[in-house]
Amino acid sequence: MTETETPPTSTASADWDALRRGVAPVWARYTDLVVERGEGSWLVTADGERYLDYTCGIAVTNTGHAHPRVVAAIAEQAARVIHAQQNVVHHPAGLLLHQRLPRRFPNAADDERGLFLSNSGAEAIEAAVKLAKVATRRPAAVAFRGGFHGRTHGTMTLTTSAVKYRGHYEPLLPGVYHVPFPYPLRNPTGRDPEAALAFSLAQLDELFATTVYPEDVACIVVEPILGEGGYVVPPDGFLPALRAVADRHGILLVVDEVQTGFGRTGRFFATDWTPVRPDIVVMGKGIASGLPLSGILAPRELLAAWAPGAHGGTYGGNAVACAAALATLDVIDAEGLLANAARQGERLLDALRALAAEHPHVAEVRGRGLMIGLELADPGTLAPRADLARSILAEALARHLLLLTAGTWGQVVRVIAPLVTTDDEVDVAVETIRQALAAAGA
Ligand code: PLP
Repeated sequence: MTETETPPTSTASADWDALRRGVAPVWARYTDLVVERGEGSWLVTADGERYLDYTCGIAVTNTGHAHPRVVAAIAEQAARVIHAQQNVVHHPAGLLLHQRLPRRFPNAADDERGLFLSNSGAEAIEAAVKLAKVATRRPAAVAFRGGFHGRTHGTMTLTTSAVKYRGHYEPLLPGVYHVPFPYPLRNPTGRDPEAALAFSLAQLDELFATTVYPEDVACIVVEPILGEGGYVVPPDGFLPALRAVADRHGILLVVDEVQTGFGRTGRFFATDWTPVRPDIVVMGKGIASGLPLSGILAPRELLAAWAPGAHGGTYGGNAVACAAALATLDVIDAEGLLANAARQGERLLDALRALAAEHPHVAEVRGRGLMIGLELADPGTLAPRADLARSILAEALARHLLLLTAGTWGQVVRVIAPLVTTDDEVDVAVETIRQALAAAGA
C-alpha cells in the first residue's frame, strides 16, 4: 500500500503486515493479532479466530469486552455530549460519579470523601504526589523496590520494577527514595513472609536514620499487591504497618490501586482486604471498562489543599468516560462480580498450584482474586527464567489463550481473567496452561 492510499475499511482487503509497520516499535509486542471485536472474555481477530483474553488489556476490561450495559451507556452519553470540559461546565455523568465513587473509599465514611478525575494511571499518581506535596509542604516521597507507577518523568522516578522504564532518562525527580517491597520468595533473610515484612520495615527505618528525615517525606506510595513487579502479595500486616509509620511521622499514605482496583482481587479495592484507611487512593485501568479515565479519592479537606487551578487537565472527567464508569459500577454490583472474581480466583489458584507441583521451574503460584502470577525460576538457585515464561506465553497463544508476563526479569506469567469469567472458561484456561507448561518444558 502506498502512502496516498486510504486505509482499508474491509478487513478482507487489508494488508496488515504493511499497516503494522506504521506502529512505533516502542510498543513492546506480545502478539501480532489484529482484533476486530471483543465479547466478554473473548477477542475475535480479523480472520475470525477466537482467543480467550486472560490479559484484560493489562487489567482493564474487568467487566469483559463490550459489556452491553457499558456499551449502551457510552452510546447514550456520546449522543448527548462527548466533551463538556470540567473547568467550563458540569455534566450529570460526572456529578453522579463524584457522588458514587467516593462511597467505595476503603474503611471510611463516604460523606468526607472527594474525587479528582484524570485520564491515565500515571496522571493520577502525579496528582496524588502533587497533592501530598502541597498539603504537607514536604519535598520527598518514598516508594517500593519493584513498584510500577507509570511512565511520566515523575512516575517513572517512583517506578523500579525494571530498569527499562527509567534507564537513560536521568535526571529524574529529586527527593524520591526506595525501600524493598516484602517479596517472600526473593527476600534476602528467608522465605518466611513475616521475615520479609520485618526486613522491609527495617529498611524503611534505616532510610529515615541514614538518608532522609521522615518529617521531610510528603507521602509513601505503595501498591497493595505488586503489579508489573511480578504479582507479589505482601503479608497481611504490610499496609497496617505502613499506616502506623505514616501516622507516626505525619506522612500521607498513598495506595496505588490502579491495577488492583475495581474488583480485580475479589474486593472492590485490594486495600479492602485490610483495615487500613489510606489518605489517597489512586485509580485507573478498570475504572471505566476500557475508556481512558483515572483519578484519586481523598478526604475533601485534603483535596481543598489544592487552590483552584493548582492542578487539572483538559480531558479529566470526560463525559463518555464517566458514563462508562457509572455503568461499570452498576455491572460490578448487579452481576456480583466481586464474588465471582473471588470464587474463580480460588479455582484458578488451586488448579494452577496443583499443576505447579508437577513442574519444578514453577517456583511459586501466588495471587489474590483474579490477579494471579506463576514465577518461573531454576529450582534451588531461583535464577529467574524469563525464557520459560516467554515459551509458556507462546505455547498458550498457539492454543488461543492470551497471557502476559511481569516481574523485573520478565520471569512471571500473569493470568488476568475478566471478572465475568465463567467456570467453563477457567477450565479451558487451566487445561491450556497445563499443555503450555508441558510444551515449554517448565
Ligand atoms: N500504577 C500501577 C499499579 C500500574 O499497574 C500502572 C500501569 O500498569 C500505572 C500506575 C500507570 O497507569 P497508566 O499506564 O494508565 O499510566
